[in-house]
Amino acid sequence: MHDRVAAYRLTLRERLPRVRERIAAAAARSGRDLSSVRVVAVTKGHPPGAVEAAVEAGLRDLGENRVEELERRASLPGDAAVRWHMIGHVQRRKAGRAARLAALVHSVDSLRLAERLSRFGEAKGRRVPVLVQVNASGEPTKGGFPAAAAPDGIGRVAELRGLRVLGLMTMAPFTGDEGVLRRVFAKTRAVMEAAAEISGVEGCELSMGMSNDYRPAVEEGSTMVRLGTCLLGARP
Ligand SMILES: *Cc1c(COP(=O)(O)O)cnc(C)c1O
Repeated sequence: MHDRVAAYRLTLRERLPRVRERIAAAAARSGRDLSSVRVVAVTKGHPPGAVEAAVEAGLRDLGENRVEELERRASLPGDAAVRWHMIGHVQRRKAGRAARLAALVHSVDSLRLAERLSRFGEAKGRRVPVLVQVNASGEPTKGGFPAAAAPDGIGRVAELRGLRVLGLMTMAPFTGDEGVLRRVFAKTRAVMEAAAEISGVEGCELSMGMSNDYRPAVEEGSTMVRLGTCLLGARP
């Protein structure tokens, strides 16, 4: 276990400064600075040592894509300042469990899930922070509201009293084609610009960009990148 932590420390020492430099350069190309882009370190698939090393390295936003794993990790004694992000699809029956632990649910991909999360928030007397997932590429394998239906969907989600809608999330196709990536990210940003006018939408966060596409994502306005492999190495 300690060997594992040591290996992750080394990996992060090597990779994190480089990733930050690249984010800073991409942010500069979109007229922003590094502080406008939050790094969510995606620890899914890695042992607990990765979480320990990430926290040591100063990362405070950590992401998981499964509710069970989120529960396991959020219950470990750790740094109280860690914010856990739920970044993967949430089954409706697990909505309450995700809402209880996540500082932000990125993956609100249907009105029915939003309603479940909202019901939890109302029962607890608080509003659950969420992002609405947009399927900007139109790929049938991707979750989220299709771009054309997004304004209507976001409006309905934003009406729910147990939620705070802080922005949007998208997943780009797995491709090295920068043109395709840019179009998907730019389309999501355009949906956000329109959604900002919708009553009840409280933020303009754009969760977009993973290890293979965070640079174009930041250039197109991302405010949160979800990074696993490029920070922690390949998942074992
Ligand atoms: C796994 C995952 C990531 C991180 O992927 P990497 O390619 O390892 O950076 C980001 N977002 C979501 C939704 C994921 O499931």
